[in-house]
Amino acid sequence: MSESVTDIAPLNTAVTNEPVLLKVEGLEKQFAVGARTMFEKARTVKAVGGVSFELKEGETLGLVGESGSGKSTTGRLILRLVPHTAGSVHYKGRNIFELSAEEFKPYRRDMQMIFQDPASSLNPAYSVKDVITEPMIVHGVPATRKERDERVIELLEQVGLDRAQSGRFPHEFSGGQKQRIGIARALAVNARLIVADEPVSALDVSIQSQILNLMQDLKHRYGLSYLFIAHDLAVVKHMSQRVAVMYLGRIVELASSADLYRRPAHPYTQMLLDAIPKPRVNMSVRHEALPCEVSEIPSPINPPSGCAFHTRCPHKKPICESETPAYREIAPGHHAACHLI
Ligand code: SF4
Repeated sequence: MSESVTDIAPLNTAVTNEPVLLKVEGLEKQFAVGARTMFEKARTVKAVGGVSFELKEGETLGLVGESGSGKSTTGRLILRLVPHTAGSVHYKGRNIFELSAEEFKPYRRDMQMIFQDPASSLNPAYSVKDVITEPMIVHGVPATRKERDERVIELLEQVGLDRAQSGRFPHEFSGGQKQRIGIARALAVNARLIVADEPVSALDVSIQSQILNLMQDLKHRYGLSYLFIAHDLAVVKHMSQRVAVMYLGRIVELASSADLYRRPAHPYTQMLLDAIPKPRVNMSVRHEALPCEVSEIPSPINPPSGCAFHTRCPHKKPICESETPAYREIAPGHHAACHLI
């Protein structure tokens, strides 16, 4: 029987009391969208509309939402891979948006990314050794070639690959092996924070649990913190101490994993949980279809007024169309934005 994401090793999901590693405040990203006709003005899309959260040392925070929710853009903003429009990101107490490119370099070393599509994130002209060595050369750690070569071997073995494979090229590896190479590259310069953007969604279900288990092993070995981005609440559940749910560029609910899965407060979170495939008695998987009237996320170019979820919400009231609900603490450590809570 093939493995599923529920086969990964259980995680201690207790919320940690460690110091804050990353503090995101009022983060915004607007994109200009060209006019469709000569009579139309260019428009602005708010892909991320004021996101705030903290990530503690050694914590995994899940960031969940459908495609178009702004979660991947949020991850890229935090790593300065795309410029922000407003807000701040403090890493170890420093606002990294205020740093020059040179001042940011040591922070870039600390903050690495694992990409969704391992095939396109690896340079096909580079051998595995070159892929893993490149960030070491950029950051000058380790300093000598001999040390870098030893580090490549060490990393390959830690991600479950054979040292004899270091001279091979990405096309010679399976999808799961490519993602292992991507993880080794992220760890090459001793990162502390990893933004993992849908790290298993491009992989077969049978491989997903292996990669998730590997990420958990490495987290414990190196004391890593993860911002774990996914569209699938089932995957996030097994990885995260806390989970933030995003909808059309905003966080609509944030709670400990235990609270969120046991007592989801926001109707959108409830909808995502209802859509998680349920195992049947015969162990096949039953996919819960979203009700047809709630199946499409609106375009961020023209988001709904008031509560952005009102066009899909089975509980909406007249106030929901006109007033944006405040994002507030509804129980200790549990935040949500809904007029009915
Ligand atoms: Fe639904 Fe209204 Fe709550 Fe939005 S504010 S989630 S529309 S009940």
